[in-house]
Parts: sequence; structure tokens; C-alpha cells
Amino acid sequence: MIPFSPPRIDQLIIDEVIDTLKSGWITTGPKTKLFEKKLTAYGGHKATLCVNSASAGLELMLHWFGVKEGDEIILPAYTYAATANVVVHCGAKPVFVDINNDFNISTAAIKKAITARTKVIMPVDIGGLPCDYDAINALVKENDIISLFKPNTEEQKKLGRILILSDAAHSIGGTYKDKKVGSLTDITVYSFHAVKNLTTAEGGAICLNLDKEFDNDEIYTYLNSKSLHGQNKDALAKTQIGNWRYDIIEPGYKCNMTDIQAAMGIVEIDRYDKDMLVKRKHIFDLYAKMFSQYQWAQLPVYINNSKSSSFHVFLLRINGITEEQRDAIISEIFKADVSVNVHFVPLPMMTYYKNQGYKIEDYPNSYNNYSREISLPVYYDLTDENIATVVKAVANSVDKVMKKTN
Ligand SMILES: *Cc1c(COP(=O)(O)O)cnc(C)c1O
Repeated sequence: MIPFSPPRIDQLIIDEVIDTLKSGWITTGPKTKLFEKKLTAYGGHKATLCVNSASAGLELMLHWFGVKEGDEIILPAYTYAATANVVVHCGAKPVFVDINNDFNISTAAIKKAITARTKVIMPVDIGGLPCDYDAINALVKENDIISLFKPNTEEQKKLGRILILSDAAHSIGGTYKDKKVGSLTDITVYSFHAVKNLTTAEGGAICLNLDKEFDNDEIYTYLNSKSLHGQNKDALAKTQIGNWRYDIIEPGYKCNMTDIQAAMGIVEIDRYDKDMLVKRKHIFDLYAKMFSQYQWAQLPVYINNSKSSSFHVFLLRINGITEEQRDAIISEIFKADVSVNVHFVPLPMMTYYKNQGYKIEDYPNSYNNYSREISLPVYYDLTDENIATVVKAVANSVDKVMKKTN
């Protein structure tokens, strides 16, 4: 069986994790702090806080900005549930908008959805391709949109406009006009979940890149405490002589990263551009080349003049098929011992969100892309021979299903 996306676990990773286990310090400590420094240098943003998941990072930032009941948060209908669930946790309303042909949120659709209640826009770099950040960043700075904005908290007053909180769970290493994901907008959150490009088993990072009216280092210190129950000293600081007394500044959350996780991250980030991204680009290029011979194959955009993907998910679409045919094709592919997936079932199709009154009919591009989409295996150890096997399995399955139904 060709798996979908097993993690890359080699001796370097194992050695670094064992080093942590033997060091006597396994929770948040020197390795997490080192990983944060490396991530800040990598993304070109201003400060990084590591947390235990992207979901926690996104939610922490919504709380930081004071998002609450009565607020509206704009996000794509086409994303993983995490993006929307964290909005619900804050008591705010997720406002789904439709996507472009490239799977990313449509700026025109965002513009139509903005109201006086809008506090945050959460673009998602689907598959690893950065969204149109120039357009999205410019939109929230338009005079008529600024004048609609109703700030309720100190942070909202200071920003004076809608916040852009980017869900970059897929896109660490992606670039837009020669800048890396992390420095493209106000705040960006990476995921290091086991299936993501750069993994720490579970984990995430908040990339702070707020404009000069904010002190990003000060916000980092505040968020560090907010991710540790609002405690004013972390466990490591408390081990110093005479430093046992601590205070609770607010009822914070508990979502810090451990040094065991950071150990994996340190190894991965050092070799990410020159090794992982090169390999993933090779896989994307080979899929693109091999599928280009088929009329029925619609290839994803993963590189153009202004953008480069992190090559996270290869989002193949099949032309002229229904959702049922796509499902049948996937069954056939699995019979050929190849694992594939669908990224994503749009959120308005999910029971919870459907029951909240969202209708997939309002998001025709999301449905169209979803109904014809099949995500192919992409991982470090995938060989060219494996790729040929995947392409053959997909082509045979498409032929079989198309013959049956035509
Ligand atoms: C994986 C994923 C997340 C959540 O990441 P976690 O680190 O597992 O919380 C959020 N958004 C998208 C689009 C994802 O694919």
C-alpha cells in the first residue's frame, strides 16, 4: 500500500528527541525557545510563539484580539473544521465565503461579506499556495472598510481595522512576491501536525508580524503567559533559585509546546528548504508532467510569477465528473493499493454547520472543486516509481468509472 503522508522520521530526528529525553527537561524549555528563534528567522516575521497545535494558536489570537459574541469572522467555506471551530469557541459567528478556481478564498467574496460586525478575516493557504495577500491586506485598509470597523478592545482600537489572521497550516515555506509565509500579513499560524510538511507530531506556531503601532516582543511575552494559564513565570524560570513565587494575571489557556516536540522541529527547519521543499517540488512537478497527457486531468496551480506553494497537498481535479463518480474513482484507487484523500469537504456540508443554516448551494465554486478533487500522496520518502504507480492507479480508475457510466 502506498500511504498518503507518513512523517519523515530518520536518525537525526530520533537522536535529537533522545537528547531531549536524557536532558532532564522535556516540557517547554531551551529547545522550544531555539525553535522559535529559527522560525522567526525563517519566516522573516517579527516574533514566534510555539504552541501545541495550529488550532490552539488560532484560538489564542482570536482571544487576544478580543473576539466574542456578536462578532463576525470571515473565512473560506473550503477549509478544515479547525478554522471555523475556533471562531465558534469564541462565541463569534463564522461567515463563510466562496473560493477561486485555485482553491483559495476569493477577495471579491470577502469584500461582499464585510459588515460593521466583522473583526477578523482568516485566509487559508489551501494545499500550500499563499492567498492573494496584497489584495486582502489592501482591502482592509480601504477607507470605506476602515470606517465600518467598530473597535471594542484596546487591541482593536490600536489596529483600527479588521485583523488578518492567516491559517497557514499547509503553507510554511510558501512564498508570495519573494516573501515567505509568516511575514505576508498581520498574524500567521503554522501547523506541525503529523501529516503536515514540517511535523513535531502535534504542534503549531504563531508568527507575529503586526505593524509598528504594536510591540511584537511584548505581545510574545503576554501570549507566552496566556498559553500557560496566565502564569507570569514558566516552569523553567521557576526552577531558578528563590524564584518559586508566581502570579496568575488572567485565566489563561494551556497550549504550550514541549521540548520533545521542538526537538523534531529544530531538525526539520534546518533542512526544510534545501531538502524537504526540493523533494516535494520534485513530486509535484512529476505528477504535473505525468498527468498533463490526460484530457480529464485538471492540474493545480502551485507556482506562478508571484507565488510558490509549500507543495503540501497535490489537489488533482477530474474534468466532467460528478461527486458520485469521484467517490467511485477513489474506491478504485484504493483497490490498487494507493491511499488518496479529499481536501476538503466544504464546511457548509458538515452536519454541525448545516444545522446552523449554512447551505452548500451558496458556495458553488467550493462545491465544484470539492466534487471533482482527489488529493494524491506526497511525502519525503515517496519514490519516482511510487509516483508512477499512483498515476497509473488514478488513470485506470478514471477509465474504469468513466466507461461504466458513459
Ligand atoms: C491541519 C489543519 C489545521 C489544524 O492544525 P492543528 O495543528 O492540527 O490544530 C487548521 N487548518 C487547516 C487548513 C488544516 O489543514
